[in-house]
Amino acid sequence: MTLEVGQDYAIRIEAIGPDHFATLSAANYAGWVVIADEHTAAACLPLIEAHVRKAPRSEVIVVPAGERHKHLDTCRFLWDKLFAVGAGRNWCCLNLGGGVIGDMGGFAAATFKRGMDFIQIPTTLLSQVDASVGGKLGIDYHGVKNSIGVFQNPRAVWVDPGFLSTLPPRELRSGFAEVIKHALIADGSAWETLSGVGDLAQLDWPAVITESVDIKRRIVLADPLEKGARKALNFGHTVGHAVESYFLETPEPLLHGEAVALGMVCEAWISARRGLLSDSDYQSLVNFVLRIYGHRFVPSSSFSDLLDLMRQDKKNEGSAINFTFLTGLGSHRVNETATPEVIRESLLAYNRLG
Ligand code: NAD
Repeated sequence: MTLEVGQDYAIRIEAIGPDHFATLSAANYAGWVVIADEHTAAACLPLIEAHVRKAPRSEVIVVPAGERHKHLDTCRFLWDKLFAVGAGRNWCCLNLGGGVIGDMGGFAAATFKRGMDFIQIPTTLLSQVDASVGGKLGIDYHGVKNSIGVFQNPRAVWVDPGFLSTLPPRELRSGFAEVIKHALIADGSAWETLSGVGDLAQLDWPAVITESVDIKRRIVLADPLEKGARKALNFGHTVGHAVESYFLETPEPLLHGEAVALGMVCEAWISARRGLLSDSDYQSLVNFVLRIYGHRFVPSSSFSDLLDLMRQDKKNEGSAINFTFLTGLGSHRVNETATPEVIRESLLAYNRLG
């Protein structure tokens, strides 16, 4: 299955094979450089390595895995390596990994010598349905997620659902939060199907990925630079990003999707309090999210820090904290705000669910 993102690039959802690399060869790059992390170098690179080695020149750069390495020092390491192997603007970079590699490898490529081409090869569910599409690239800075970055589209996105077979179950569940979010903001019937799922292993992943990535594709096409409609994708992320950043500094960090799941509950609570979402819809969302993700208590001593993190969100205009709220299970409203008091109440309401 191929989904076109306007005239810009295509998302291919299928096993990666010789045809993908024939297309790449036809583009006559001087060399290809694969950026992987230590896990994807071990689990995913072997599946494409034989094809990669057919390039006129190919290099592999491996960085440590995880969000805590998505920062300037790792980026500097990537730029140094790109210089060392003699890469130039006529090279193509293949970002083989989850959202961290896609965002950071893409950012390193998009800025190296004013930009080299790159292809996103997402290997986590989260990056397959979300991070690899839409051209947002970047790194965390001063502990604030994605605070340095650019918008730049890849040449292509190659989604191979087969990569999910080696993904740790906790990572699969984390990525599933974005699948849930896409359904909640845009597709009531997809929500109906998903909310009946008891075991993620039962899902038909190629079908689920295609449906989910298509929702993201349509939203991104309507608003490539996040001026309006694309803010829909922020549902769950205003609270979720803050919670993720906060727990990143603790001994037990939350994965991105786990934080987004928590954020969706808080933001759905505010939506219900506003009268936008019915209490019964709020309750079905809560039941499903807690069934899949369980509960993680958020200490009230962290609320001030969380609010500070929310105030730093790039999506804010002026001093108000920007939100996307649900108006049903499958519809949303962007450009909403909430006061710090209401946000605190939503976190307390979440804590009471535990
Ligand atoms: P990740 O990239 O850290 O990957 C999660 C873990 O799984 C890592 O340890 C990785 O090494 C490992 N892994 C990846 N693929 C594997 C495989 N197939 N088999 C075995 N192990 C594998 O995390 P993620 O959840 O994919 O992405 C999170 C990041 O994505 C965050 O930094 C977030 O900000 C970003 N993001 C970006 C966008 C965007 O639009 N650019 C959207 C959503 C999220």
